[in-house]
Amino acid sequence: MKVHDGMYIDGAWRPAAGTGTIAVVNPATEEPFATVPAGEPADIDAAVRAARAAFPGWAATPPAERAARLAALRDALAARQDEIAATVTAELGAPPKLAHAVHAGLPVTVAGSYADLLGTYAFEEKVGNSTVLLEPVGVVGAITPWNYPLHQIVAKVAPALAAGCAVVVKPAEETPLTARLFAECVHEAGFPAGVVNVVTGLGHVTGQALVEHDGVDMISFTGSTAVGRRIGAAAGGAVKRVALELGGKSASVILPGADLAKAVAGSVASVMSNSGQRCNALTRVLVGADRYEEAVALAAEAAAKYPAGDRIGPLVSAAQRDRVVAYIEKGIAEGARIVAGGPRPPLERGFYVAPTVFADVTPGMTIAQEEIFGPVVAFLRYEDEEDALRIANGTEYGLAGAVWGEPEAAVAFARRMEAGQVDVNGGRFNPLAPFGGYKQSGVGRELGAHGLAEYLHTKSLQF
Ligand code: NAD
Repeated sequence: MKVHDGMYIDGAWRPAAGTGTIAVVNPATEEPFATVPAGEPADIDAAVRAARAAFPGWAATPPAERAARLAALRDALAARQDEIAATVTAELGAPPKLAHAVHAGLPVTVAGSYADLLGTYAFEEKVGNSTVLLEPVGVVGAITPWNYPLHQIVAKVAPALAAGCAVVVKPAEETPLTARLFAECVHEAGFPAGVVNVVTGLGHVTGQALVEHDGVDMISFTGSTAVGRRIGAAAGGAVKRVALELGGKSASVILPGADLAKAVAGSVASVMSNSGQRCNALTRVLVGADRYEEAVALAAEAAAKYPAGDRIGPLVSAAQRDRVVAYIEKGIAEGARIVAGGPRPPLERGFYVAPTVFADVTPGMTIAQEEIFGPVVAFLRYEDEEDALRIANGTEYGLAGAVWGEPEAAVAFARRMEAGQVDVNGGRFNPLAPFGGYKQSGVGRELGAHGLAEYLHTKSLQF
């Protein structure tokens, strides 16, 4: 058991205020293999004070120098990509290839994108007789989930630093080791002390202390809608800025002109990747009645290409596994038909769930409405395009979506979807495109220039 000490506060690893620890469990073996300190409100207080003290200096640092530090962070993350990937595999369970390419690779791209953006970003603009200044909002509290442990941190910290903000990160308790590696990379990149601080701990203790701290100007949160709602309410009460990236129940709509095999394979792949622990997974596939059975058969074939333990990892925890299995059982109880997978564990050891495909799902069923966050995909029938649109938009969420069909028809349909991102005919993920939700999927956008704007105030000077 590896014991990790200390919190990264004010540019150094400092002893934690308390003696509590959090065990880190390998989801493939079910064995704890490390511990990190469980932070207390006093740790958050020390981190926020360090950030407050560092903020004016960092805000006044010229953008070119901020860009140089972000480029150094990108390089530090790139240099440790193997170690980061191995850590994500150990604490999240991601298969090595996915861990390397996505979990360790994407943050390098995102950190680099903000170093580049600072070369051209205009922090001043003219509006008639005014000059509008864009200024950093101040100290940012970043609260992140475990599903993409490093990406979620970098997607908040890199734009906040680019804007000139100082940050306190409270990473998910399931994946604190990746967050500690991130802190080491920040250190190597040579940021001034206090500009970035990382405090590990439990959500309702350290997370809550960060949200409630008077020294924090903005909270950027990614996680469940339930917690996001509470954070939004607390931030509203204190008139603090808040960005919320929450859950999803995204629709993949297969229109009559679509390449069916490609559309089904693309949708199923989106749900199986990261074992379905993706807020933008295409978990509801909508197919016209005439091609429905063919689509379901293709989906069963596609799911069979994801043997547990090889292409698809375990879920992050026993609790998450149990939650997903309970949804599968509920789907069966409500009358949906299993065509692949099911509630039985595919392996004896590890928090694995079999890649599961449900047919005969109707829009009112629980598995068509609630986010499952596991490798479970639901196939629904639609009568015509209007029906498809009603079903696609008929959940409380609006994070992402996909449309497959003749290009013009697909774009016209995508325009009518209530979602922050829609992929047309398998369009690739774009790390510069704004990411975020309509409706209960959240408030605000991450990534690219839109992600940077979240961390800026505007001030108008009149002449
Ligand atoms: P969660 O909401 O339980 O936890 C997320 C983070 O919030 C963790 O760091 C946790 O410690 C912290 N937290 C928990 N309670 C808190 C409180 N009372 N005050 C302050 N912080 C608190 O979510 P989870 O189970 O870790 O993650 C899964 C969920 O996150 C899914 O619902 C998923 O859709 C969502 N998610 C959304 C996105 C997105 O970009 N929209 C990305 C990833 C995950």
